[in-house]
Amino acid sequence: MITVNARATFSPEGPFKLTTIERRELQPHDVLIEIRYAGICHSDIHTARGEWGPVKYPLVPGHEIAGIVSQIGSEVTKYVVGDRVGVGCMVDSCGECANCHKGEEQYCLHGMTGTYAAIDRYGQYTQGGYSTHIVVTEDFVVRIPDGIELDAAAPLLCAGITTYSPLRHWEAGPGKKIAVVGLGGLGHMALKLAHAMGAEVTVLSQTLKKKEEALELGADYYYASSDPETFKQLAGSFDLIINTVSAKIDINAYLSLLSLDGTLVNVGAPAEPLPVNAMSLIGHRRSFAGSMIGGIRETQEMLDFCAEHRIAPEIEIIHANQIDEAWERVLASDVRYRFVIDISTMGKE
Ligand code: NAP
Ligand code: ZN
Repeated sequence: MITVNARATFSPEGPFKLTTIERRELQPHDVLIEIRYAGICHSDIHTARGEWGPVKYPLVPGHEIAGIVSQIGSEVTKYVVGDRVGVGCMVDSCGECANCHKGEEQYCLHGMTGTYAAIDRYGQYTQGGYSTHIVVTEDFVVRIPDGIELDAAAPLLCAGITTYSPLRHWEAGPGKKIAVVGLGGLGHMALKLAHAMGAEVTVLSQTLKKKEEALELGADYYYASSDPETFKQLAGSFDLIINTVSAKIDINAYLSLLSLDGTLVNVGAPAEPLPVNAMSLIGHRRSFAGSMIGGIRETQEMLDFCAEHRIAPEIEIIHANQIDEAWERVLASDVRYRFVIDISTMGKE
């Protein structure tokens, strides 16, 4: 076992404390990654607070991992020491089922292995990226293109792919009108990516606070969802709505904004159910869908797309001792637009 520094939460309430965790010895296809940056995703909070079901403590969250390969197993062919790499929300899958064969490992029929709070094929409880090193099988590691800084690359591994995948699946592009609901970590990536794909992008945020910034990031239009006039004005307007909100919202109100054959894709994952009226779907033949991250091949495609289009998340770098504060700010919708932990501060007070 390899003992490494990490920040863990020991209960649903926290706080984070410096601790050590064990990483497995390198298997033939494993790479050891020295983590440089780890993004903070709202899913870290849902998971650690037990909102999606019970978890074991201590828990080290973090599934937006960017770093450098520092050692490779005897049969690794894809990476060499020194490569700039990333790891997202999953670290393994069966590799044999129909969905894995399609490159949709996130939908593995035997269940993919989450980067943290999961049991891996060695029987070990997985621990995430709020730590100095991680061991991952090479098939679940992606390459970070030279044009993307490591700190900015981290959020792409979850916020980037989670929004890129549905935008591609529902064919965002020129002539498509897309609304992004919630301008947080995922929302601001959905905005940048949809804009780069050539779609017309409207942001629906709770207030007008982020309007100027959203327009600078590429939004064509911006409305406050707290203003009831917004829903009257935009009724029947959009081909595609990407809902990134982490809390329960009135889905029926947003479905009314779809045009004929439009789809509302939920990527936000609140613990509470989101009730849908049949009437909201029947009118205009609308669809209500969901989407979970993206496969490994598509994650690489997204990174290459971001490098080509010079897209990077807006990040605020924090010290490892500021995780609790950062979480509170995420919960207060006060993130602009992703916190990224500088892992070089991990062992420091
Ligand atoms: P985030 O940075 O906290 O962004 C969520 C945004 O939703 C907030 O910034 C806020 O935007 C809006 N919001 C929050 N509470 C709200 C409320 N009560 N009513 C209306 N709007 C509200 O979170 P994130 O990291 O982007 O994650 C968003 C959600 O996606 C989480 O539930 C997360 O677990 C989920 N997720 C899913 C996947 C997947 O594979 N499907 C992957 C990653 C994350 P405004 O201030 O602009 O309104
Ligand atoms: Zn995430």
